[in-house]
Amino acid sequence: MSRFLSKSLQKFDAYVPGEQPKDKKYIKLNTNESPFGPSDGVKKLLKEYCSDDLKLYPDPTADGFKKEFSKLYGVEKNNISVTNGSDEIINFALMAFGRDKGVCFADITYSFYSVVAELQGIDYEIIPLKENFEINPFDYLNKNKMIVIVNPNAPTGLYLSLDTIEKILKANRDSVVLIDEAYVDFGSDSAVSLISKYDNLLVIGTFSKFRSLAGGRIGFAVGNSELIRDIEKVRCSFNPYNVNRLTLALAEQTLADNDYYVKNAENVIETREYLKSELKKRGFSFTDSKANFIFARTDSFSGEYMYKTLKDKGILVRYFSSDRLKEYVRITIGSRQEIETLIEKIDEIMEEQ
Ligand SMILES: *Cc1c(COP(=O)(O)O)cnc(C)c1O
Repeated sequence: MSRFLSKSLQKFDAYVPGEQPKDKKYIKLNTNESPFGPSDGVKKLLKEYCSDDLKLYPDPTADGFKKEFSKLYGVEKNNISVTNGSDEIINFALMAFGRDKGVCFADITYSFYSVVAELQGIDYEIIPLKENFEINPFDYLNKNKMIVIVNPNAPTGLYLSLDTIEKILKANRDSVVLIDEAYVDFGSDSAVSLISKYDNLLVIGTFSKFRSLAGGRIGFAVGNSELIRDIEKVRCSFNPYNVNRLTLALAEQTLADNDYYVKNAENVIETREYLKSELKKRGFSFTDSKANFIFARTDSFSGEYMYKTLKDKGILVRYFSSDRLKEYVRITIGSRQEIETLIEKIDEIMEEQ
């Protein structure tokens, strides 16, 4: 720490992203990326991309992208905001709607939320999940502050039905309810269909998982046009050219090639259910994930042991050392082949016991 760092940041613990080691080639099952490359349309576009265009700023209103997005998601252009990954929209949303009354979210969820709240000096309330990691919806009524729900949640993959989301929206008419749908495309229902009904609903999403574009950095928010106007106010003042020109073009193409991504998601779901059945045979327990990962544990060894031993064997999974999570690992659903290799390595570890 230099002696110049602002006082408010001196005790602040930065967010730690999943490791991306370079010492050897790993099977990466630790950061929920897609095992599939982008569509042929995206590859073609990239190959033929006119690099001279990079001398120009991107379109700050992202019109082309929004047009394609509106068609697919059944919303209007003024219901959409586009950001540099959804991590950026999380920052913008908390800035816009969390400052006065604070924000609340589950104790076990995407840990970026508490880090952003700390960074921005926003009050936050942590609401413990039930013992089985489910949200208790009654904990989310009449909060009188911004509410964040990751649905399906990370790292558990558990989801709340739209009925329950609606109950929470109705019980918090005067607060923004942000639903983070990073994993919605792997088998649960999107709350985007509710935005015309609830002016306090902000749905956010990312192109990093389902759309195989983690390296491109693009995310979005969908909501009532007035909420989006507020977000745009922050966005334009923070960084009006926040999404680069090339990424915007590639992301637009993923929307045109939607069927390809839907097929990939079906493949991931099938492999996820296969992994569940193989883990069950081996005595593991896990949450009923509707995301592109499984959160699993075994009585045979600790989460940390599993994480370390798998890493030695060339497979990366995510381990969280906090109290409620330390017996578990989070395993991203890779290709069928990658998951078969994972199961072989798990068998080796079990034999070595
Ligand atoms: C991955 C993830 C994000 C961030 O996505 P980016 O668009 O890559 O920044 C946001 N929320 C949740 C719950 C995630 O898992």
